[in-house]
Amino acid sequence: MSKKATKYIFVTGGVTSSLGKGIVSASLGMLLKARGYNVTIQKLDPYINIDPGTLNPYEHGECYVTEDGAETDLDLGHYERFLNSPTSQNNNVTTGRIYQTVIDKERKGDFLGKTVQVIPHITNEIKRRIKILAKENYDIIITEIGGTVGDIESLPYIESVRQLRWELGETNSMVIHLTLLPYLASSGELKTKPSQHSVRQLMEYGVQADVLVCRTEHKIPKDQRAKLAQFCNVNSANVIECLDLPTIYEVPLELHKQNFDEVVLTELALPTTNTPDLTDWKDFLKKYKNPKKSVEIALVGKYVSLQDSYKSIAEAFIHAGGSLQTEVKVRWVYSGDIESGDVAELLNGVDGVLIAPGFGDRGIEGKIEAARYARENNIPVLGICLGMQIMTIEFARNVLGLENANSTEFDTNAEYPVINLMEEQKDVTEKGGTMRLGAWKCAVKASTKLFDIYNTKNISERHRHRYEFNSDYTSDFEAKEFIPSGKNPETGLVEALELKNHPFYVGVQYHPEYKSTVANPHPLFKALVDAAVKFQTKK
Ligand code: GLN
Repeated sequence: MSKKATKYIFVTGGVTSSLGKGIVSASLGMLLKARGYNVTIQKLDPYINIDPGTLNPYEHGECYVTEDGAETDLDLGHYERFLNSPTSQNNNVTTGRIYQTVIDKERKGDFLGKTVQVIPHITNEIKRRIKILAKENYDIIITEIGGTVGDIESLPYIESVRQLRWELGETNSMVIHLTLLPYLASSGELKTKPSQHSVRQLMEYGVQADVLVCRTEHKIPKDQRAKLAQFCNVNSANVIECLDLPTIYEVPLELHKQNFDEVVLTELALPTTNTPDLTDWKDFLKKYKNPKKSVEIALVGKYVSLQDSYKSIAEAFIHAGGSLQTEVKVRWVYSGDIESGDVAELLNGVDGVLIAPGFGDRGIEGKIEAARYARENNIPVLGICLGMQIMTIEFARNVLGLENANSTEFDTNAEYPVINLMEEQKDVTEKGGTMRLGAWKCAVKASTKLFDIYNTKNISERHRHRYEFNSDYTSDFEAKEFIPSGKNPETGLVEALELKNHPFYVGVQYHPEYKSTVANPHPLFKALVDAAVKFQTKK
């Protein structure tokens, strides 16, 4: 039997950046998956970094890590959270990676004396990277092109889309253009001109948009819709309105109400008879929007002024809160403020604390203070990655009496290096892609909180760090009941620590937030929210 052709959907953006292409792509993917299609979503990023792993979170928000250890754009987090299926390195490609591949080939002599050029060599590599996913048997591949149409950086990508549209044939691919309809308060009007211009610009590059998704603060009047359709060469049914909504998880339902998924399937000549099963999604939203309880959790971190830096953590709270019908208010606490201020005041009234991941020594002492305060006051704490390391340092200093105990990340000559560099990391000099990355196994110890939370012995979670718990100190910690409750079965590296005589004091070396989805809220986040509810009742 011949394999059905894979269909390709390209998502471009016009007028401004930050319109939410990632959410629209994720929403479409989710709707198509709910109709039974095998879908994946890919992001092409026009910057020259090989991956966002070396980017400061202030530049680009969180770096999202996949099962196979790729450091990727945070949009991949949305894809996984909406689709509930894993992505991989193939789902995120940057201009840096494209050029690196082409230049490596050139050095090997693969181009047989030819002049290496943007067209065809760079565009061929872009097309190869898009089509690579078809080998994984997807029915539909959604490719989101980063940036805004007209940017110099995204030109080779748009040209690759043009070529692919032509090569794949009419109904095997389509283009969705996400655009903005600004509202002029003085005249009380939505304006279509910027969108007309960006669609026209796309046409100048030889690409016709098939569907327009319009970000707007107001409903689009019928005549404006007709105008957009006429000037942009699309059916008026293909003009989809995307209003600002209270939560991103409502977007798929709103788009579905306007037949977005049906319009897309029609463009791709795919059957539209089966309707998507959205029962679980709607159920989640109903619970999320009608909470019975409310807790406040402090997120102590150093990048809190850009909340996108902790995107997956914030979303994991939404999933956990929704599933427990509990509102989770996040209090963003800058760890530097704890150093110069009063921890009791800054954490006053919170029902739980999350000590965030991070790199570098800024704000470290503030985090240590937060850990001490929460430990001494029985406030539930979840420490993630650096957060777990902080809990370790605090315990060593204040309970084990190891004065100035530290991580060698912050004090290379620490007298008590309770967190230190793993052996394999000692000779690593390059920064990009060299950490302990991706999914690693963890064996959970019986009769621990961690075991109660996961209810299984063998788990696997994603990592992104260089430093580890120093096992020379294990017995000291165990003697005071701060025990390793999870270890890597092969290396023995400590994956999780928990305090016995505390309602909830759990630190994990891995990043549970990357695996939390709407369909599968993460058990650790649920456990923290649950502990916060209990703490609140006792207050
Ligand atoms: N900086 C720490 C390390 O490299 C923690 C990293 C993190 O929190 N992701 O081990």
